[in-house]
Amino acid sequence: MGKTILVVEDDPLNMKLIRDVLTHRGDTVLNAGNGRKGVDLAIEKNPDLILMDIQLPVMDGVEATRLIKTDPSTRHIPVVALTGYAMDEDEKRMREAGCDGYLSKPFKLKKLFQVIDAFLATDPIDVA
Ligand code: MN
Repeated sequence: MGKTILVVEDDPLNMKLIRDVLTHRGDTVLNAGNGRKGVDLAIEKNPDLILMDIQLPVMDGVEATRLIKTDPSTRHIPVVALTGYAMDEDEKRMREAGCDGYLSKPFKLKKLFQVIDAFLATDPIDVA
């Protein structure tokens, strides 16, 4: 069952890679190229999961995550930070902003799927 995943990423190649593999899996991918648009799309589309780059134009991933996690309409959405290699300070700032997990770039596709599935597996079961 496909999910809606919002990817907030300003690097076109990385965005294309993530969009291609998730679309191939059957997910619907929404793309925002800056943090402000990411927050707006989160509110408007209520995605199942957000993958959030940190270094972004207009508004960075830390501030965007903070806004998403303080808005009652979006705070339930898991946010997974896309962190650069060995950027401990970024991870700390993202954790303080409320992010739910991390994925270090560059990542293997298997790892991407593992992280996504781990956060999407907590869906409530539909009861008739
Ligand atoms: Mn970036």
